Amino acid sequence: MLDKIVIANRGEIALRILRACRELGIKTVAAHSEADRSQKHVLLADESVCIGPAPSAESYLNMPAIISAAEVTDAMAIHPGYGFLSENADFAERVERSGFTFIGPRSETIRIMGDKVSAIRTMKAAGIPCVPGSDGPLGDDLEENVRLARDLGYPVIIKASGGGGGRGMRVVHTEATLLNAIMVTRSEALAAFGNETVYMEKFLERPRHVEFQVLADGSGNAIHLGERDCSMQRRHQKVIEEAPAPGITAEQRAALGARCVRACQEINYSGAGTFEFLYQDGEFFFIEMNTRVQVEHPVTEMITSVDIVREQVRIAAGEPLAWSQDEIQIRGHAMECRINAEDPSNFMPCPGPINQWHAPGGPGVRIDTHIYNGYVVPPFYDSMIGKVITHGNNRGSAIARMQQALSEMVVEGIKTNIPLHQEIFSHGAFKAGGTDIHYLEKRLGL
Ligand code: ADP
Repeated sequence: MLDKIVIANRGEIALRILRACRELGIKTVAAHSEADRSQKHVLLADESVCIGPAPSAESYLNMPAIISAAEVTDAMAIHPGYGFLSENADFAERVERSGFTFIGPRSETIRIMGDKVSAIRTMKAAGIPCVPGSDGPLGDDLEENVRLARDLGYPVIIKASGGGGGRGMRVVHTEATLLNAIMVTRSEALAAFGNETVYMEKFLERPRHVEFQVLADGSGNAIHLGERDCSMQRRHQKVIEEAPAPGITAEQRAALGARCVRACQEINYSGAGTFEFLYQDGEFFFIEMNTRVQVEHPVTEMITSVDIVREQVRIAAGEPLAWSQDEIQIRGHAMECRINAEDPSNFMPCPGPINQWHAPGGPGVRIDTHIYNGYVVPPFYDSMIGKVITHGNNRGSAIARMQQALSEMVVEGIKTNIPLHQEIFSHGAFKAGGTDIHYLEKRLGL
């Protein structure tokens, strides 16, 4: 087993990693910014190292500082969490080269999946269904591009191969605007991602976002943990997630899950990963793979009893997967609400001191948060301050428990999006399940 791990992240996920390490008897080093000295995981960790000033560019994205933190504390591995450097192939490579274990897939896998054209090509070869499209980068032949869009049928979407975070995409509704859209997306992609490669896909108009969780140990063992539905989004940011996805049958789950598992084995994947799909009219279309733990991993943990972060650490330590596919059973239903420090009327971040904090409880309620009474939400980072996760025997029970939990929750001093969640949970369409990715923005009149 690994003896000591550097946690190169902050907030709830840093605490989540710390908890998994403690259960495994692994010592922890919190690598934190100057603004995060009072983070709960920093106070609880065996050791802590300040890696730089508050801005993430100088701390949580500071590769040499994080690797030095591992060197000076004699740690063996680095857990990147999500966001920050978690999907940065250069960082993973530097960690490996410095003689430490990167808790995640090999850097070459991260590199392939980080480039969307190469990710799609790899997945297609492994039998994963993809969105109909250009099957590779768009060339400079204007007529060829016009013909391709005509064959796919409008609308189409032009996407940057190096894009991420919902940026670097442009929907095209008519032929008249196609060539200009390709040109503009190309130059934006070059400016934003340093890579002007773009590709074309059919634009699906009312898809749901359904993603499959996988675990693979890099020695040929791989399993899937079923799917999550993350269609409740605003500006491509997930707001509520649930598992399983409403209306997906056990047969659909088993069939696509098995393909994801096979794909993992073919690319010799190692660690936790997520295959993201758009789901429309009963069909799945792969859009990208995330090579890290996701914010929404708890809903899968609640319905499968698998501790995903613990498995990540065990796999990185070279241990075989602790679970086989037949041991994975889906029990009940789980929901997750992301609680953000933001004004629910205009979504503006709302940092500041929290002077009263009361977390909900009761059967089937899990709170993943680093917040405590007197905690000050810093203005420098993502506004998420925690997650409320509920589990019940069925979707209705998970929803009822979430409504109860949200009504019990007290956060004073800052504004949060709890009222927005409460409103969504009262919508008939949400209760019915299966709304598409545009539902929330339409409903909010955005
Ligand atoms: P990113 O890495 O920036 O998140 P994705 O490829 O995952 O990019 O796409 C982000 C979002 O953009 C998707 O969740 C979906 O809402 C929308 N999107 C991407 N491709 C398509 C498509 N072919 N049709 C419809 N919507 C799409």
